[in-house]
Amino acid sequence: MIRPELRLSTRRLAWNIAAVRDRIAPSELMMVLKDDAYGHGLTWAVETGLAAGVDWYGAYDVCSGVRVREILGAHGRIFAWVTSIDDEIDEALRHDIDLGVGSTEYLSAVIARATALGIRARIHLKIDTGLHRNGMLPEEWEQTIADVRRAEAAGAVALVGIWSHLAEASDEEDDDARREFLHAIEVSGRSGEVPDALHLTASAASWWRPELRGTVSRIGAFCYGIRSADGPDLEGIAPVAELVATVTEVRGDEVTVGIGSFDGIPSRLAGSTIGTPAGAGTLVRVDEASSAVSIWPGAAVGDPVWIFGAGDHGESSATTLAERIDTVGEEILTRLTSRIRRVVVD
Ligand SMILES: *Cc1c(COP(=O)(O)O)cnc(C)c1O
Repeated sequence: MIRPELRLSTRRLAWNIAAVRDRIAPSELMMVLKDDAYGHGLTWAVETGLAAGVDWYGAYDVCSGVRVREILGAHGRIFAWVTSIDDEIDEALRHDIDLGVGSTEYLSAVIARATALGIRARIHLKIDTGLHRNGMLPEEWEQTIADVRRAEAAGAVALVGIWSHLAEASDEEDDDARREFLHAIEVSGRSGEVPDALHLTASAASWWRPELRGTVSRIGAFCYGIRSADGPDLEGIAPVAELVATVTEVRGDEVTVGIGSFDGIPSRLAGSTIGTPAGAGTLVRVDEASSAVSIWPGAAVGDPVWIFGAGDHGESSATTLAERIDTVGEEILTRLTSRIRRVVVD
């Protein structure tokens, strides 16, 4: 094995999913799949979710939503929330994908495409609760709900969800966001049924702030065992991926391994703790196509080195590496290039 491998544990992903579901019940898990399932590979992640009985999948864009639908068949609900062009809206409607709608322009486009195709669009309306990235402003919410109810009566849409995204900067801000969110739900109930899918929280808030959870929780990082940067370990959750490179040369007090910055390893990770067959070692230097690691007794060409993983060989987690360079564990995983083979090990 010369090409580095990202080894994926189906067993661990299934365990994490079970631990997350236990923790958030009765809120339902929406497994978030953006960035190719946080670099793990979309197909494997969805197949594992499906086997575990996950009903909701957060696909981010319509294109990956369609890939998810091809794996799920008729099973499950797919939520694509990025604002999309008309052709993509059509694809979403044809593939039974729920759409997140966060602007009046996009709402009009979805209603128009649903009317043209004669397919009722299932929409989740987004209220801006303070993040100011996307979402209906509180002052336009009542009018938007009225427009949606009219489109419902005409058979063009079904309002199946209300959602928002938290800043997670402080508990107080998140509490304010929750108040805005609950108000938006209440307004929707004045003119019809309150939709079933009410979702506000991602991994951290779903885990630590039960009072903020809706009927559904959109969770990516914790499913893959990526803890929050500067956050504590999580009971029952472990990294599902380990990155393994091979020793290509043993010289002096270092060994060379076949992975480098061209594969997506930030050179600033030099100094990090990695795993070797003899336990924890040090990543001494990251070059373009290779890296230097501190030697261990008996080190030989062909030996594996664990750049990150679950700690079974002394290696750091992706989040621990990320903390060294002031980023998040997700970024360590999503930067890895396609030269790194994704291999399912159990
Ligand atoms: C990425 C994302 C999530 C999942 O966040 P995690 O912290 O990985 O659980 C949820 N909702 C939205 C809108 C996102 O963009």
